[in-house]
Amino acid sequence: MPDRTGRYPEEDEGWTLSSAPGPEHWDDWVEFDAAAWPRKVERRYSLVPTICFNCESGCGLLAYVDKSTGKIRRFEGNPVHPGSRGRTCAKGPATINQINDDERILYPMKRVGERGAGRWERVSWDNALNDIAERMRAAIVEDRGDEIMYHVGRPGHDGTMDRVIRAWGLDAHNSHTNICSAGARLGYALWHQADRPSPDHERARFILLLSAHLESGHYFNPHAQRIIDAKSGGAQIAVFDPRLSNTASMADHWLPTWPGTEAAVLLAIANVIIDEGLHDRDFVRRWVNWEEYLRIEHPHAYERARSLGGSASGSDGVDVFFEVVRELYKEFTPEFAATESGVPADKIIEVARAAGRARGGLSTHVWRSAASGNLGGWQVARCLEWLVVLTGSVATPGGTNLAAKDKFVPAPFAQPPAQDKWNELAWPREYPLSHHEMSFLLPHFLKEGRGRLAMYFTRVYNPAWTNPDGFTWIEVLRDEDKIGCHAALTPTWNESAYWADYVLPMGLGPERHDIMSQETAAGSWIGFRQPVLRTFRENRGEEFEFTWEANPGEVWEEEEFWIELSWRIDPDGSLGIRKWFESPYRPGEKLTVEDSYRWIFENSVPGLPEAAAAEDLTPLEYMRRYGAFQVEKNNYRFYEKEVEPDASGIEIDGKRLAGFATPSQKLEFYSPTMVDWGWPEHAVPGYIRSHVHWSGLDRDAGDVVLMPTFRVPTLIHTRSSNSKWLVEISHRNPLWIHPVDAARLAIRTDGLVRVNTGIGYFVVRAWVTEGMRPGIIACSHHIGRWRLPNSPGGDKWASSCVALTEQATDGAAGGHWRVRQLEGAGPFDSDDPDSSRIWWTDAGVHQNLTFPVQPDPVSGMHCWHQKVRIEPARPGDRYADVFVDTVRSHELYKEWLAQTRPAPGPDNLRRPLWFTRAVRPTDAAYKIEE
Ligand code: SF4
Repeated sequence: MPDRTGRYPEEDEGWTLSSAPGPEHWDDWVEFDAAAWPRKVERRYSLVPTICFNCESGCGLLAYVDKSTGKIRRFEGNPVHPGSRGRTCAKGPATINQINDDERILYPMKRVGERGAGRWERVSWDNALNDIAERMRAAIVEDRGDEIMYHVGRPGHDGTMDRVIRAWGLDAHNSHTNICSAGARLGYALWHQADRPSPDHERARFILLLSAHLESGHYFNPHAQRIIDAKSGGAQIAVFDPRLSNTASMADHWLPTWPGTEAAVLLAIANVIIDEGLHDRDFVRRWVNWEEYLRIEHPHAYERARSLGGSASGSDGVDVFFEVVRELYKEFTPEFAATESGVPADKIIEVARAAGRARGGLSTHVWRSAASGNLGGWQVARCLEWLVVLTGSVATPGGTNLAAKDKFVPAPFAQPPAQDKWNELAWPREYPLSHHEMSFLLPHFLKEGRGRLAMYFTRVYNPAWTNPDGFTWIEVLRDEDKIGCHAALTPTWNESAYWADYVLPMGLGPERHDIMSQETAAGSWIGFRQPVLRTFRENRGEEFEFTWEANPGEVWEEEEFWIELSWRIDPDGSLGIRKWFESPYRPGEKLTVEDSYRWIFENSVPGLPEAAAAEDLTPLEYMRRYGAFQVEKNNYRFYEKEVEPDASGIEIDGKRLAGFATPSQKLEFYSPTMVDWGWPEHAVPGYIRSHVHWSGLDRDAGDVVLMPTFRVPTLIHTRSSNSKWLVEISHRNPLWIHPVDAARLAIRTDGLVRVNTGIGYFVVRAWVTEGMRPGIIACSHHIGRWRLPNSPGGDKWASSCVALTEQATDGAAGGHWRVRQLEGAGPFDSDDPDSSRIWWTDAGVHQNLTFPVQPDPVSGMHCWHQKVRIEPARPGDRYADVFVDTVRSHELYKEWLAQTRPAPGPDNLRRPLWFTRAVRPTDAAYKIEE
């Protein structure tokens, strides 16, 4: 593979086959048209780099733009992107389906008649922007700023919206994090503030995954390729998963743990590592806050440690800590863990020894999976990180770094100050430690009258479909007293947009600018998403004021939308908003996206100006040409860096070192924060029996645990259903069930099963397989999209047409909802001939509608797993039927809410000041003033 300049390595540097055209060919790439075979028809392409938007991995894509037609022909991987290294998963190339999707929204639409009536008219961007700006200006001027909310599903950028929302002076950000990763985030944050890990899989000696990272997950393709590289180099892989995922099938050790017992197994592994002397005693001595723990919780042991020289510089005191730890966790023998988890004790010991021997080279990850499924799932992540700490694998080659150290977010020009407001609709007092916004409870908060929304933006987000308890969302979305105006910013129609007032078409990945960075390996990079056709045409000398002029229809790129909207909210600058959207290069004039990225690349990315100058390019030209830049490599052991005597840091063994961003500046095995905020029983890593523990099940009566969180590698939530290639591969979500359970309950493959949840039921087909642990069933969550008969669009490749009926219950706010499929997927008329060739009829079942909200009282994570009762379908049941009782769902919400221990904490705070928070407000806003 040649480098960026086209230079091939010398022979003695080794040689490889090229996986893609090198950049020296990108201006004019010639190849034969495969569709013209056997004729040899040459096609000439301009290859324009951009970034995939189908998950958060941020893989680099190369758009092949046909020079003769000016159309994008296909997408492949960008070989000079440091994260993805030229590779993609199936979803990257399928971006072309989304670009060419006949059903996509090309113009702004406004509802006609009642909300949800299904009638729409095309409006101008001017009309839509003016109406929305007027509503927002009124709310801001009248001090109703809490009535404005931006609710994001797939961010796809770093920092852009933080700046916009800060410029408005509002606490208006909401996200989907608490249905995704809040559990893992809290578990990691308690150790070192960083709420995500960055495993260096590539150099690992042992890889421990509580996830299905070869096939899915947040960092899918970049991690999968490095895990396999490590395996090829001799590393071992262990996977905890009750389902035989593709990842588990590639592992050396598969541990099909009972859901929610993972922390017990991890603590048993830790015990074996300590008992067999495989731990890194000196790393723990230097970097864990064991002295603080002993001083506060075990004063006698602390005195003994001190007498042994147990100050930070002592060499023996830490052994007292390990004695205490042995006593603390003595219950967690491999045999106890085996009883809890169902994984044999000798397998647990074998994995423990392998993980311990990897000392310094243990890379681990939990994402979703156990941390997002279970009550107390955050303790799973915390116990997993305990293994990383014990083996001295924190930020080492082959170890596990902190995400923040391998991700680079460049500063924008003129960052607005933090807002001095706190919005309790997103950050309620009941969840002071949540990571982060309690987004999935929003409809319950609105139902309870905690507030209302004057202007609600959903942005690449389909809350009625993605969240649990979707009918409660629908009840609120349709209520104009609760939500005054709802603008759905989305490239495609979806179930929530049906109840919007405006549906505003936003650009797909190759139709917008963004900067992305992800912690995909040791080191950090930035990727530049750019609107391919605009860049292609500008390279040919055309000029554009707005990206929508080069995009299909009037599909706007989002950043331009926010600039325009912000100017209209504050046309004369009197609100202090407009100034943040003025050009840094042309004072007083409106900011352009070009200004924005030009400034960032010239001023905020270390090394980029120099790299660009070396190729006689400006930094912006460099990023437009290559689409990515490696900022830093191998950021190992950052905490050991010596700092100036007066700088923030910690004194260890006579040197002042950078340390960690915790109150102790060490890794916090012991969390005084948990004590101070009312959870002293969870001051250290521990095991919380999940709400789906096996002891609470009556297996003979049909009780099983439903795992609804697993992903398939070809789909992403709701947004891949307009990719015909992907839908052809994956379009059904049968219920995985073990033969033992199936026989006991008289269930057979393809037979209909009724799955009864806490608030209703759904009817699905079974798939009897040994790949599922007995007692557990699983159903993938991507599938089951639906549309109503009068929907203007609805991803017909992947959706069924359904009837929704609601029966109000006496005296109650909500009702009984039923979904019945009218027809499944099938051929339809469009300009794409493939739409007449749809051979599948199954579009899956929308299971999430039937799930009650189950917020973990500490992390705020929705605990996805649930105890359900299954039975063969009853007479009258039909495939994909759904029934939900939203009155019951509100009752269950209140039961979970009652488990919380609300703020204020110390000093009347709403949240610990040292915890991260999305769009962090001023410190003053953390105080509850009454
Ligand atoms: S892993 Fe994610 S970002 Fe990468 S190609 Fe696949 S969908 Fe796109």
